[in-house]
Amino acid sequence: MRIVIFGPPGAGKGTQGVRLANALNISHLATGDMLRTEVAAGSELGKQAGQFMDRGDLVPDDVIIGMIQSHLTEGEGMVLDGFPRTLAQASALDEALAGAGLPLDRSVYFKVDRKELVKRLLNRAAEQGRSDDTPETINRRMDVYEEQTAPVLEYYGAAGKIIEIDGTGHPDDVFQRLLFAVNGEPEA
Ligand code: AMP
Repeated sequence: MRIVIFGPPGAGKGTQGVRLANALNISHLATGDMLRTEVAAGSELGKQAGQFMDRGDLVPDDVIIGMIQSHLTEGEGMVLDGFPRTLAQASALDEALAGAGLPLDRSVYFKVDRKELVKRLLNRAAEQGRSDDTPETINRRMDVYEEQTAPVLEYYGAAGKIIEIDGTGHPDDVFQRLLFAVNGEPEA
């Protein structure tokens, strides 16, 4: 099963994405995690990407697509977390899957309002010290989400492919909603 999970920064995609991938025994592919690994390793890709990440901006499409493309058609399935984040990335995903004759089985959107997101990200900053969880960068990432990633949601929504779930409340409850969205009615 190939599943995309969408949502603004702080919506819980990472936590829930790992749980979902474990429950379905498929891989969890998170572009943010892949990039942080590259930054920590001091690779060329990491150096290139790090400056965008620290500002709260998106890493350029060609870098992201180059990094993830070969993984998109691997294995029995995957949970894609944090990708696609732009329309160009959504097209690249469509093309890669179509080229391999594979469907995108589910797209799930975690809905959480901005006030709650900022609160969660500030808590995460205190707990984990992620370098892009500063108040300025958090605001920038929210704006970037609304400008560049929200259109991807519309793109999947227009194709009748998105399942929206409430991303607030206890993580166990969110996970139950996510499982229901994935195992429930197939999208039209
Ligand atoms: P995340 O862990 O998903 O919140 O991603 C952290 C940061 O990595 C983002 O703010 C972006 O700078 C970068 N990033 C992650 N995924 C992507 C993507 N699909 N496209 C562009 N930039 C990305």
